[in-house]
Amino acid sequence: MQLKSILNCVEPYKSFVYKKAQWADPRTKTTIEILIEPRANGRPICSGCGQRAPGYDRLAERRFEFVPLWQIAVFFVYAMRRVECPRCGVKVEEVPWCDGKNQLTGSYRWFLAGWAKRLSWKGVAEAFGTTWQNVFRSVQHAVSWGLAYRSLENIEAIGIDEVQWQKGHKYLTLVYQIDAGRKRLLWIGRDRTAKTLLRFFRMLGKERSSKLKFICSDMWKPYLKVIAKKAAHAVHVLDRFHIMQKMSKAIDEVRAGEARQMKADGYEEVLKHSRWCLLKRPENLTDKQTVKLSELLKYNLRSVRAYLLKEDFQRLWEYVRPGWAGKFLDEWCTRTMRSRLEPMKKIARSLRAHRELILNWFQAKGAVSTGIVEGLNNKVKLTTRKSYGFRTYEAIEITLYHNLGALPEPEFTHRFW
Ligand SMILES: [Zn+2]
Repeated sequence: MQLKSILNCVEPYKSFVYKKAQWADPRTKTTIEILIEPRANGRPICSGCGQRAPGYDRLAERRFEFVPLWQIAVFFVYAMRRVECPRCGVKVEEVPWCDGKNQLTGSYRWFLAGWAKRLSWKGVAEAFGTTWQNVFRSVQHAVSWGLAYRSLENIEAIGIDEVQWQKGHKYLTLVYQIDAGRKRLLWIGRDRTAKTLLRFFRMLGKERSSKLKFICSDMWKPYLKVIAKKAAHAVHVLDRFHIMQKMSKAIDEVRAGEARQMKADGYEEVLKHSRWCLLKRPENLTDKQTVKLSELLKYNLRSVRAYLLKEDFQRLWEYVRPGWAGKFLDEWCTRTMRSRLEPMKKIARSLRAHRELILNWFQAKGAVSTGIVEGLNNKVKLTTRKSYGFRTYEAIEITLYHNLGALPEPEFTHRFW
């Protein structure tokens, strides 16, 4: 079997032939060159308008990098024709293996982008002997293709989330589709202002926004404002994940303050190594943490009281009827307001202020699986953490779309990855 016949099988071209395969340098044998020629009588296609046009002249030979074979670099070698197009004038022809001035063939770019979902960009560059920039540009190309060809129809449920992506309070706003049958990252924006989220709704468009049925978000004011304005008809849900996240932060605050106080007063440091005991659900604790927790519970500490309030609050989510859930919520808030734990009181106040949106959760239960936002949030964190070299916003945006956007890809005769 010859290299030429394999190529005709995995990457056939109607108007071009694989003429010959040869070593670029027969002494070193590190690179294979595939010489390509146009089929006889085939008229070139104008890259300006995509129509066939009469030939004009031929440019010098160019090399286009193809998918490597057995750790041997492979290049297509071809002298581009120019056409004299009646519509566009003198233009370079269009070839099926590559677009524009690119030095990498389309197949090679999709190959690198495909691997970039499994390895870091640096890892891909090292594995296939190419540069980080080439991997970056390949992923960029895959993402812009995918965004251009994806469908945004029939989206009924979305979740809005924020993550910190750099030290110093830099945030990203993320919008996910969380319909029961389809979960993906829809949109990423810099910052978490009202303007940020407005940009998402502009991208989605009026017509599609009007079809949204459920929107999950946290209590961040700018988001609430925009949602009320742009999708007032949808059921707006303050989701469980974000509420419990806030509660954990409050407990952390109580614990840190109390630990500092105890140390200053010269007490035994009973709160040492207690952070995760108080933040995790009891069923997720390790044996050691369980022992530590039961020891802690013996003390009448502020941290312990905050912890018990949080654990009690978990019962809210088990209610089926919004009416009963509302009663429980009110009762919990009253109790918490008497607790003299300022961070917890703050939470109670904001839960009271958003009572209606919280109870919407019981309406959405079943229609949207609200655990999804948490799952996607974890994946986002994993992706951004794993990837060193993501200093710029552009790079982080591309990698998140690439990994979580469920973007479409063109159809290939053969998938090389
Ligand atoms: Zn043309």
